[in-house]
Amino acid sequence: MTPSEVVKFAEENNCLMVDYKFLDFVGIWQHFSTPIAEFSEETFEEGIGFDGSSIRGWQPIHNSDMLLVPDPSTVQIDPFIEVTTLSLICDVMDPITREGYTRDPRFIAKKAEAFLKSTGIADTAYFGPEPEFFVFDDVRYASSANESFYAVDSIEGVWNTGREEFPNLGYKPRHKEGYFPCAPTDSHVDLRNEMVQVLQSVGMTIEAVHHEVSTGGQSEIDMRFDSLLKMGDTLKWFKYIVKNVAFRNGKTVTFMPKPIYNDNGSGMHCHQSLWKDGQNLFAGDGYGGLSKMAMYYIGGIMKHAKALCAFTNPTTNSYKRLVPGFEAPVNLAYSNRNRSASLRIPVTNNEKAKRVEYRTPDASANGYLAFAAQLMAGLDGIENKIDPGQPLDKDIYGLSPEELKDVPVVASSLEDALDHLEKDHDFLLKGDVFTPDVIDMWISYKRESEIDPVRMRPCPEEFALYF
Ligand code: GLN
Ligand code: MG
Ligand code: MG
Ligand code: MG
Repeated sequence: MTPSEVVKFAEENNCLMVDYKFLDFVGIWQHFSTPIAEFSEETFEEGIGFDGSSIRGWQPIHNSDMLLVPDPSTVQIDPFIEVTTLSLICDVMDPITREGYTRDPRFIAKKAEAFLKSTGIADTAYFGPEPEFFVFDDVRYASSANESFYAVDSIEGVWNTGREEFPNLGYKPRHKEGYFPCAPTDSHVDLRNEMVQVLQSVGMTIEAVHHEVSTGGQSEIDMRFDSLLKMGDTLKWFKYIVKNVAFRNGKTVTFMPKPIYNDNGSGMHCHQSLWKDGQNLFAGDGYGGLSKMAMYYIGGIMKHAKALCAFTNPTTNSYKRLVPGFEAPVNLAYSNRNRSASLRIPVTNNEKAKRVEYRTPDASANGYLAFAAQLMAGLDGIENKIDPGQPLDKDIYGLSPEELKDVPVVASSLEDALDHLEKDHDFLLKGDVFTPDVIDMWISYKRESEIDPVRMRPCPEEFALYF
C-alpha cells in the first residue's frame, strides 16, 4: 500500500489508534501508539522522533535523537489490541542525514536484498524458517490438568539435575515421544488451531501444524516461505501472535532453544533458495537434484558456519541444544534426506521446491540478521566457488569419534561463536550489509550482557556436583 492507501484503509476500518513497532538490536519488537488524529500521510514523510539511547546496543545518550519511519507495506490491524488499532512496522533513521540506522536489523535485511541484486547472481532469496516453541503454563493460572503442568514437572526434574522423572499422571508424552500422538496426549490442538486462525488473519499462509518431539507442548506451525525482508517481518508477527494467543489462554510460549534438559530443544531450521527471473537457481541435476550454485552456497555456509552461529544461534542457551542425539545438528555436513546433517536437502520432485535446509539455527535468533548472514555466507560460497566436499549419507549420531574426526562441527558455545565472528566477518561486510560497528557492538553486547551474567551465576547442576 502507498501512504494515502494506508490512511484510507485506517478510515475504512474505523481505526482509533496507530501502533508503531520496530526492532531493537537483539530483535525484540518495541512499540508505542498515538491516537489516529495524530496520523496522516505526512507521518510517512516526517517520521516520529524517539530516544535511541533507551534501546540496548544503540545510540549513546549525547546522540540519542532518532527517527522512526513507518513502512506502508507493513500495514495490519493489530489482532490483540481491543480498540481497533492500525499497526505499522518502522524503519529507524538518523534524523539529520535521514539515512537508515546501521544497527536497525530491518535495514541490514534490506541491504542484504540490495546486495544480492547487485551481484547479478539472483534477484530474490527465499527463506522458510521453522520456528519451534514450547508451551508452558502461565504461572498466573497454574493448573494440574494438562501437559504443560507435567512439563513444568520436567523442568523441576531438570532443576533436580534431570536424572529423575516425576510420576506420569496420565497422557503426558514421555521424553522425545511427543512426535506426534493424537489427543489427549497432544493437549494443545485447540490452542494451536486458535494460533493458526490469528496468524491467517494477518495474511500468513500456514502449511502444517503439529506437536513436536519434546514433552512440554513443544509445537511447530509452519509458514509458507517468503523473500528475506518480508520473512523477517512475518517471523516477528509469528512470535507476537503465538505468544499473545498463549497468554490469553493462560499459557506461556518460549522460543528459548533448550528449556528442558535431556529432551529435544527448539530449532529454527531455515529452508532457502535463490531465484532469478522466476527461475529457481538451486534446481539442477547434481547431488540431490541441486545445481552447482546450490553446492557452492552450501560450501559458503559450511565455511562460515562457526561465525554464522553468532547470528543463527545467538544465546548461551543455544549451545545446550546443539548436542548430539536430539535432532539438532552438531556436525557440519550436507546430505539428502538426512536429519542428522546440518544441511539437509529435502526430497522433492518439484523444481520450484528444490532448496537447502540449514538445521543449525534456532528461534532465539533475530530473523533479519540470521537470514541476512546466511545469505552472505552462501553468496561468498558462490562467488569463490567453495566446494562443500562429499555428502555424508550416514546417521551422523551413530558414527564413532574416529569416523567423525575429519567432520567439522558448529560452534561449541556463544563464546566460541563470537570468537569466530571476530576473526571471520569480511563476508558479512560486503556491500556494507553488516557494518563494523554492528559486528563490534554485537560481540561486546553479547559478551557483557549475556555471557558474563550467565557465567557468573552458580547453576543447578553445580549444586548436584559440588554442594
Ligand atoms: N527439535 C529439533 C531441533 O532442535 C528438530 C526436530 C524436527 O523438526 N524434526 O532442531
Ligand atoms: Mg518441520
Ligand atoms: Mg520440527
Ligand atoms: Mg525441518
